[in-house]
Amino acid sequence: MLRSVVGTNWGDEGKGRMVDLLASEADIVIRYQGGNNAGHTVINERGKFILNLLPSGVFRDETVNVMGGGMVIDIEHLCGELDRLAEKGVVLTPDRLKISDRAIICMPYHKMLDGIEEDRLGKAKQGSTRRGIGPVYSDKYMRKGIRMQDLLHPDTLPDKVAAIVEWKNLLVEKGYGCPPIDAGEMVDWLHRFGDRLIPYICDTTVYLLAALKENKNILFEAQLGALRDIDYGIYPYTSSSTTLAAFATTGAGIAGARLDEVIGITKAYSSAVGGGPFTCELFGPEGDRLREAGSEYGAATGRPRRVGGFDVVATRYGVTVQGADCIALTKIDVLSYLDRIPVCVAYDINGERVTDFPTGDDLEAAKPVYEYLDGWKCDISKCRKKEELPAAALRYIEYIENAIGCRVKYLSVGPERDEYIVMY
Ligand code: GDP
Repeated sequence: MLRSVVGTNWGDEGKGRMVDLLASEADIVIRYQGGNNAGHTVINERGKFILNLLPSGVFRDETVNVMGGGMVIDIEHLCGELDRLAEKGVVLTPDRLKISDRAIICMPYHKMLDGIEEDRLGKAKQGSTRRGIGPVYSDKYMRKGIRMQDLLHPDTLPDKVAAIVEWKNLLVEKGYGCPPIDAGEMVDWLHRFGDRLIPYICDTTVYLLAALKENKNILFEAQLGALRDIDYGIYPYTSSSTTLAAFATTGAGIAGARLDEVIGITKAYSSAVGGGPFTCELFGPEGDRLREAGSEYGAATGRPRRVGGFDVVATRYGVTVQGADCIALTKIDVLSYLDRIPVCVAYDINGERVTDFPTGDDLEAAKPVYEYLDGWKCDISKCRKKEELPAAALRYIEYIENAIGCRVKYLSVGPERDEYIVMY
């Protein structure tokens, strides 16, 4: 069984929590795109963890975790993540963590370039997390990336690094007027953090092809949501990778494999980090209250998130481009304080009512058309069966299902492992 867990919105939909839950049925959990530019929050009996790079299956002792070739990996950050887990007793051995030899290393100069470009843009900045993701993917497609594979060949590494750094310095020194990157320092950095990762590096395609033959249960874990996809998201306020389920098997290195189920993770209201159009945004006390209720602060950066009501236009689009077979609706408990629940049902673009998700200047010009549904005004976090939910909550769920054309299979009513309902 091959299942993919993807976000249908702007990210932060609660994917980490759902992957942690679904990982109980998985032999293997795979991250296949992106880097440490977002965080998945997982709460379990060992504590609260924020995972930026590691797959969320790391807490299940029987689960093998794979970091696919579609990823970009800041090895210094990864070492930190491994150390933080080890402090709480989660020690990952090479039989439980496999890093693709094809994955690209996010270098210190990628982070540096991300930052200085955002600073140069000033007010026009794109809301980058400054983790180097845009620059490292650019280098990958320029075919000037250093791969995990290269760590296995220390004899040729200095020459590879020197050639790339020479090219990079054209931009750093002559373009931005910054001090040049020192190739020797980069090689030292690669050894300092890369050497301890060597036991984990392997041809993950070979491993996964064997796993497919054995009919293993595989879970693909996406980072960020559909609206941050480089091609079909709210460009240019997107990430630099493909966040869609269709890329899962490719990014994992087993492009010929077929997904059996795509689970779209959808939050019961909206949130977004950084700049760019966010049509359903709520401001003032209405927004502040929702942000507080949902603790909407970035897992990777601590930045306060922008919040809004459920956005039917954006979510229906997200569900469609993800090809979601079903939905996991998360954080519905957060809405329990509301007398009436705001839902963005359409966009108004220069006086025209629009229900197909627009792009570019049309999206920038869109204003939300809000309607309100009745709230339930009681704690639903203890509900474990559909029948225990109040009628107003069921109406809200049914409304969403009809509006986005996809059924809610899982309902998350709290952040803890057992706080969910299987709806059908
Ligand atoms: P991700 O990037 O999609 O994994 O999203 P986040 O890491 O930002 O997760 C969302 C946050 O909400 C985390 O702090 C979770 O522990 C929490 N969370 C997830 N599901 C629920 C839920 O159903 N209810 C509540 N109250 N919190 C949740």
